[in-house]
Amino acid sequence: MAESSRSGDCIFCRIAAGEVPATVVHEDEMVVAFRDVNPQAPPHVLLIPRRHMASLNIVSQGDEAILGHIVRVAVRVAESEGLADRGYRLVANCGPDAGQSVDHVHFHLLGGGGMGWPPG
Ligand code: AMP
Repeated sequence: MAESSRSGDCIFCRIAAGEVPATVVHEDEMVVAFRDVNPQAPPHVLLIPRRHMASLNIVSQGDEAILGHIVRVAVRVAESEGLADRGYRLVANCGPDAGQSVDHVHFHLLGGGGMGWPPG
């Protein structure tokens, strides 16, 4: 498994610890899901592992359970947000070319229609 349980200056670690406010829509022992502060879609939810992982590039075999769990939680959140039938997008940006701006692995759950492909 990659990286330590938390990074003191990581905004998403601080949200997971309850030190920074966020609109949390799901949390359990492994995952926290909360609304993006700058939504790009209605809704726009972020799903993060509680444990600090800086990038998908450092994900290892030991992280498969938590990443699978995140996907399952994302599907449940999509259902609770009323997106299951119409559809939604689950994306993770990795690295500068993809526009990753927070160095803690996160998945964007986006819904509400009007999404183009390919993304910009
Ligand atoms: P990315 O650009 O893929 O790294 O996505 C990072 C996302 O985190 C952006 O969509 C930001 O709007 C979002 N974000 C950053 N800080 C916060 C925060 N304190 N609460 C909620 N969302 C945040």
